[in-house]
Amino acid sequence: MSTTPEYEVTVVGGGPAGLTTALYTTRLGHDTAMINRGGGRAAMMLDTHNVIGVTEDVSGNEFLQTAREQIQAYGADYHQDFVSDIERREDGRFDVTAGNVEVVSDHVVLATGFSDVRPDPPLPRTGRGLHWCLHCDAYMFVDQPVFVMGAGEAAAKVAMIMLNFTDSVDVLTRGDDPEWSEETQRQLDGHPVDVIHSEIESMDKGADGWLESFTFESGETREYRGGFPMYGSDYNTALAESLGADLNDDGTIAVDDHGQTSTDGVYAVGDITPGHNQIPTAMGEGARCGIQNHYDLRTFPMSVEELEEHGGEVSADAAPGISDKLRRRALEHNAEASAPPVDMTEPEPADD
Ligand SMILES: Cc1cc2nc3c(=O)[nH]c(=O)nc-3n(C[C@H](O)[C@H](O)[C@H](O)COP(=O)(O)OP(=O)(O)OC[C@H]3O[C@@H](n4cnc5c(N)ncnc54)[C@H](O)[C@@H]3O)c2cc1C
Repeated sequence: MSTTPEYEVTVVGGGPAGLTTALYTTRLGHDTAMINRGGGRAAMMLDTHNVIGVTEDVSGNEFLQTAREQIQAYGADYHQDFVSDIERREDGRFDVTAGNVEVVSDHVVLATGFSDVRPDPPLPRTGRGLHWCLHCDAYMFVDQPVFVMGAGEAAAKVAMIMLNFTDSVDVLTRGDDPEWSEETQRQLDGHPVDVIHSEIESMDKGADGWLESFTFESGETREYRGGFPMYGSDYNTALAESLGADLNDDGTIAVDDHGQTSTDGVYAVGDITPGHNQIPTAMGEGARCGIQNHYDLRTFPMSVEELEEHGGEVSADAAPGISDKLRRRALEHNAEASAPPVDMTEPEPADD
């Protein structure tokens, strides 16, 4: 008899998108495994912006650790591992294979994110002058001198967008030929953005680690507080492609509003799908996908056809439609949550 663990949902990737999906599927009563290599974009955050209820001083790793503890507290199984292969079985489920763990799963959710393409050094430290997320960090550069690195359309556009925050913006092409359109060039000409073509020779940083200036091969030195490299994204789509899921032209996985890909039983959420690359949007997608998995997997109510397969009616003994493991965990959790505080003082005697 096979001892391979069986789950209803296996989430591959444990960033904010995958963790939120796993939170919902677990709390909605579905045996859930998460397999996560670790790292990823959220783990790169020195501090967290734009997440209501989470203060800025929380690092990405702290944020993720809390979330991992949350899903495990509800009964999800967490494995730190890299998923190398997912294959459809004859029974329609999936064999999911990682380095030290194999599982069988009814559904798989891909939350594998992407890697930002990194330009050559010299570069300041991420979060101390090198910034990968415009909507997260533009606010830090109000009234500060800023660079945008790259020679493509995105670099030119982001440079002009940064004029909403500061009047000092340079595009650094670093010796590459500009690839933006003539129309974009006309826009650039009409905005107060300098395009610096010379390659960076060296960099100066302050005692606090923040970037202070770049010196160019032309001999010129220009001061910057920080900026954004715009060289594109490497999407982690190998598993999706091997399962036959369609990709969009930009390399993201094509999904519907609930994360369903073109392959039955395979979902995708977060940065690996189209849309703004933000923690709140990744969490929103994870929530919608988790709830959709519940609708697709839940036992009750049974359709008339399903009832007929069960002899016309379901006995009360068949409910609740939740595994014994998650049921026990929910009962323990709810008992802990409703337990009286340990440090209760005696009530004051009534006056009359
Ligand atoms: C430096 C930086 C700062 C940012 N700051 C903010 C901010 O302040 N506020 C904000 O809202 N957004 C911020 N963002 C954006 C935010 O981090 C992302 O939008 C968000 O993390 C996307 O979540 P995700 O779960 O889709 O992907 P990720 O967080 O990238 O997680 C993907 C996970 O999948 C794992 N994985 C990939 N392939 C496999 C595999 N085959 N097997 C197992 N695991 C796999 C990866 O190891 C990783 O752990 C920032 C991004 C960066 C780079």
